[in-house]
Amino acid sequence: MFFSKAGKAAVEWARGTKVPYKEFALTLEKIEDLSGKKKIDELAQFFTKVLDFSPDDLTACVYMSVNQLGPSYEGLELGVAENSLIKAVAKATGRQESTIKTDLRAKGDLGTVAQQSRSKQRMISTPKALTVPTVFKKLTEIAKLSGVSAMNKKVDAISGLLIACEGIEARFLVRMLAGKMRIGLGEQSVLSALGYAFTLSSLAKNEKKVSGEKLDSLKDANVKRVKTAYCECPNYDRLIEVALTEGVEALVEKCKLSPGIPLKPMLAHPTKGIDEIMRRFRDQTMTCEWKYDGERGQIHKREDGQIFIYSRNQENNTTKYPDIIEKISTCIGEGVESFIVDAEVVAIDESGMILPFQVLSTRKRKNVTDDNGVKVGVFLFDLLYFNGEPLVREPLRKRRELLRSNFKKIEGSFYFATSVDTNDTDEINAFFDEAVQNKCEGLMIKTLDTEATYEISRRSKSWLKMKKDYVDGVGDTLDLVVMGAYIGNGKRTGVYGGYLLGCYNPATEEYETPIYYQFDPTLKPDDIFAPHLVFEVKCADITISPRHKAASGLSEDGKGISLRFPRFLRIRDDKNAEDATSSEQVLEMYKNQELSANQKIEKEEDE
Ligand code: ATP
Repeated sequence: MFFSKAGKAAVEWARGTKVPYKEFALTLEKIEDLSGKKKIDELAQFFTKVLDFSPDDLTACVYMSVNQLGPSYEGLELGVAENSLIKAVAKATGRQESTIKTDLRAKGDLGTVAQQSRSKQRMISTPKALTVPTVFKKLTEIAKLSGVSAMNKKVDAISGLLIACEGIEARFLVRMLAGKMRIGLGEQSVLSALGYAFTLSSLAKNEKKVSGEKLDSLKDANVKRVKTAYCECPNYDRLIEVALTEGVEALVEKCKLSPGIPLKPMLAHPTKGIDEIMRRFRDQTMTCEWKYDGERGQIHKREDGQIFIYSRNQENNTTKYPDIIEKISTCIGEGVESFIVDAEVVAIDESGMILPFQVLSTRKRKNVTDDNGVKVGVFLFDLLYFNGEPLVREPLRKRRELLRSNFKKIEGSFYFATSVDTNDTDEINAFFDEAVQNKCEGLMIKTLDTEATYEISRRSKSWLKMKKDYVDGVGDTLDLVVMGAYIGNGKRTGVYGGYLLGCYNPATEEYETPIYYQFDPTLKPDDIFAPHLVFEVKCADITISPRHKAASGLSEDGKGISLRFPRFLRIRDDKNAEDATSSEQVLEMYKNQELSANQKIEKEEDE
């Protein structure tokens, strides 16, 4: 018998029985209050006990710790809308939806509201204790509900589960359903906890006692094994099965890169400019590639001929790109049986010219039947697996050679990333301008020979990114009127979480009485302000937006303009709302950034 914090009899968990959901919820509650490494230790203790008492439940416990129902590439997501959750809490607790909404505003967390609502309820009988596998199964069923009345069915199923919950269980159930656990436990911590737990469990099984130092080194070795295996094969079912049946030592050998299972991509370090790059890569051979502004596409071909496309975050994007799937065979050379290529998928026009990212973002995400009016080009830049062999430990030069000799450029569909192998600063600068002129974000600079392996899941110093917004940003800052604000939640409970900013259009005299603000209904702020306050803002890029209205009356196609990555600099006390950056200025700034750095210089010289 175990006892909860309050000292009441909490849960029965005997060896050989299922893991009580309450034990899991209590562990999460403790983790929420701990910091750093202590979170990992707490979770490791729990996993160790699961390994001892209920090893078959370990996979469900691990998935629930990372708030997933399966590998992320299988795309089974919770993320139930807040309104549906409010309905379910109301239904399960007999409280009014409006009261729950008021509580939510005050607390900023629906999980806590659900917990308190359950505690206030008088129970006629104690519900049967929930177990982790039961909750996991129910959550999976909820996530799989689809079709016309799916929302209602979800609300019913959730309220059913909530009725079976006691206090703390409701808090974490609701948070899981909302897709936000808010306990500060990242995937890397969960992997570490798993490594610790395998160590502790095996020592206990073998009744071995070791020194603190030895224990730390054993733990470190197992954490490394777990993380390496997970990088190549991000699938907890497989990983835990191997560890349980063959031992943690077998993980690295048995959980290898294989087509059909997406791997976590290598990422790049940002740089401020060419000087930093030259310093970092002083004695290295390097290549500069255009940095395309699209969506990362990891394309896999399995030996059975099946093709998959995965996103940067291992989501399965195969159904988003039927056009790529259809044409891929044209770019594959003879004798290619299986592969994993790394590429950027970019919107292009009929003549193969690259289009801005915004165009790609209008493409539907799921079950696209054709190119959905948005033609794409695939820019191949790496080969990670080829005909049964992982290539990630080979240097980029060799991977690139294999890529270029076994795949073909197909005009209008498949290309190799434009590159130049050079250490010459002038050449790099010119290549950077050329990239920007061709609607690319800048350059990726990569080592070719030494320290040039593909570092799965790492933000590596062997890949540097030089983006136009780091180099020159959008030259000027903007002074924008604060039109409204959105109420914050989570860490921002009690303060505003974001603002809607606008420019001033003197032609339509937007600030005359009655106050007239132009914004898309989807952007409606919680609170709307009279036009007084002006924020000075810097941004990475000015882009065309389907929702924002700035300068929409001035552009030819009537589309508005928005800012990418706006950063607050200061309040402009010295400006009235009418002194804010005008719509015309915003449009001018947008047009100016389309010119390459070279053109800008020419333009300035002309003026
Ligand atoms: P990050 O992915 O580094 O966390 P982010 O999501 O903001 O940051 P960027 O800063 O734009 O992305 O840079 C990395 C992305 O650039 C890659 O994930 C990839 O999708 C894209 N990319 C475009 N061209 C290339 C290229 N030639 N080589 C590698 N990546 C490229």
